Amino acid sequence: MDEVITGLLRPKGIAIVGASATSGKIGHTVVKNLIESGYKGGIYPVNPSADEILGLKVYKSVLDIPDPVEAAAITIPAKYVLDAAKECGEKGVKGLIVITSGFSEVGDVELENQLVQLAHDYGMRVLGPNVVGTLSNSDDMNASFAPFLPLEGSASLVSQSGALLIAIDAITYTRRIGFDKLVSIGNMSDVNFGDMVAWLNEDENTKCISLYIEGLKDGSRFIHECSKASKPIVVLKAGVSEHGAAAAASHTGSLAGAQKIYGAAFQQAGVIEATDLSDLFDSTLALSLEPPMRGDNLLVLTNGGGVGVLATDAAEKAGVPMKFAPESVQEELKKHMPSFGSAKNPVDMTGMAGNEWYHDTTRFSYAHDWVDGLVVLYCETAMTNPMEIAKSIYNAVTETGITDKPITVSFVGGERCDEAMQWLVEKGIPAYNAPDLAVKAMGKLRQYARLQVLKSEPAEENHNADKETARKIIADVRANGRTALTEIESKKIFKSYGLPTVQTELATSEEEAVRMAEEIGYPVVLKIVSPDILHKSDAGGVKVNIQDEAGVRETYNTILENAKKYKADADIHGIVIQEMAPWATETIVGSVNDPTFGATLMFGLGGIFVEVLKDVTFRVAPISTKEAENMLNEIKSAPILDGVRGETPRDKAALAKVLTNYAFMVTDLADEISESDANPVLVYEMGQGVKVVDARIILKKK
Ligand code: ADP
Ligand code: MG
Repeated sequence: MDEVITGLLRPKGIAIVGASATSGKIGHTVVKNLIESGYKGGIYPVNPSADEILGLKVYKSVLDIPDPVEAAAITIPAKYVLDAAKECGEKGVKGLIVITSGFSEVGDVELENQLVQLAHDYGMRVLGPNVVGTLSNSDDMNASFAPFLPLEGSASLVSQSGALLIAIDAITYTRRIGFDKLVSIGNMSDVNFGDMVAWLNEDENTKCISLYIEGLKDGSRFIHECSKASKPIVVLKAGVSEHGAAAAASHTGSLAGAQKIYGAAFQQAGVIEATDLSDLFDSTLALSLEPPMRGDNLLVLTNGGGVGVLATDAAEKAGVPMKFAPESVQEELKKHMPSFGSAKNPVDMTGMAGNEWYHDTTRFSYAHDWVDGLVVLYCETAMTNPMEIAKSIYNAVTETGITDKPITVSFVGGERCDEAMQWLVEKGIPAYNAPDLAVKAMGKLRQYARLQVLKSEPAEENHNADKETARKIIADVRANGRTALTEIESKKIFKSYGLPTVQTELATSEEEAVRMAEEIGYPVVLKIVSPDILHKSDAGGVKVNIQDEAGVRETYNTILENAKKYKADADIHGIVIQEMAPWATETIVGSVNDPTFGATLMFGLGGIFVEVLKDVTFRVAPISTKEAENMLNEIKSAPILDGVRGETPRDKAALAKVLTNYAFMVTDLADEISESDANPVLVYEMGQGVKVVDARIILKKK
């Protein structure tokens, strides 16, 4: 555990630099909040022109404080912050909570950088600037200008928005979701989301890590820390901008939006994404109270058919589709319902269900091996008392002694239901006021279990790669003053990373072209080779299915003429002669260099699937074989690879290998490659492999 960050978030003593005697000022509010929250450590107001604030002795400088100080909350104007930070450094403070604004968020990046540099010189870390502060229930510490500590609980939340943090603080009481810590992360000049995930993962009082993110500055570190974390992490990502996509030169570049790449990165890091603020709360509640759902069998108990149907619909959407319970389970459940009830799933005990039936069915179902997750629904009736039903459910669950299986509950009705649900939440059972929310929460617990399995898969590393050849080609292209590689240069690099490219030879004369065609064997394909013509077909630069010598001679000249017509001053390296690959399913594999996450892989089916439907999927590279398989299976047109209407399935294993090798290549060369694609990659029947037909690599501008 990072001791410096511990000093920042759980300080044993805290100075308030810029403490004020004037009520309403932030420097006053922070002192007041620390006192009112019951903070047991030393509170040291610092202000050269005051003697006492709220009964506490005021120091002229941090250096005058006689006791050790671990954190300093800074509230003075930006222009004085560096001097104050220096004194904190001299004093041996561990962390600066810089509440002051007026740094990079208003364009003063320089001042912010100086602050971080100065802090690091003293071994300090900076939270912010431009933060609300940090709050911790387990330390009775409200070191912020948010009005009070949040409702107590076992989740901790880090927010990039200060205003939202204050709002969430209040919502914890109305929504009855407890947090141990709330941390405002501000401009993230130093302490970033990666640091917070790493630290909270070790924090004994945090069971679930909730994040509100607008944009990450530390993409790879964030992924790394999340992947290592052993606690559930749920993220609400706001502020989607389509950075980089517009200016892209490759197909992949134009398809890679920030949103999609963030989504892919979260999934890979085992992070659960919330769809909106309510979902962030709902997911946090379930993930902080319940274990993951380790299998697919969801059982729903209800006293009303309607909510049962709603739950069934929601289950499908939440990725936990319902199946009928086994006969033996149904037999037992039938004992606790009238003859017109249904024991299938959802289990409808009907409106006649009272405390006893709720207790008995819950107890039996929760304990049964077939059940991986239980959702108990209740509609308020005239005959029953919601609090009694809640107690029956709670007792039933407790009596089983089971703690490694999730349960969620929904009570639909009025105030009495709200009270009963509040009681359940306090007892540690997540309860929601709509059946679909209880099911959705269970879906998150299932997703968490799946992501846990997935993130434990190691990324494939292609140890046979001929890295030297690849680097040499890139160096030559750079020496040539270019950033665009030709197809043949790109293919050589592909080949050095084990990608199966079609045989491709460069000819610089008609005679050479004929000789190569004969060597390769007819039919052949001829294509223009020019760094100035990236989309060769558009220039009339691709001719397929050339059958004989006469054809080669004629095509050779036609292509050269076409190229000159297309771009008179194009630098032409020659013409490539290739084996003509038999037609097969066309796919596209590509990469972009995302500003946040670095080398990122794309996969989709070719042709109209990519052009019109934009049916593609992304992963931050490198990837595991399992991830590659998931990519193949998650695009909408995936059934085409599996063979529709009696067609033989395609060679998905060979395609998965292409994806892992490609991902390794773009990771390994991430300092050089800006974007790239293999379009098309032809995929043959199972066992027949794949062929990379076209290759394109664009280097970073240096
Ligand atoms: P570009 O994308 O620059 O226009 P390609 O090399 O992708 O050029 O060629 C265009 C199309 O021609 C491909 O999508 C593919 O359908 C076909 N083609 C190109 N090379 C071959 C080959 N060696 N074997 C079979 N078909 C090919
Ligand atoms: Mg192409």
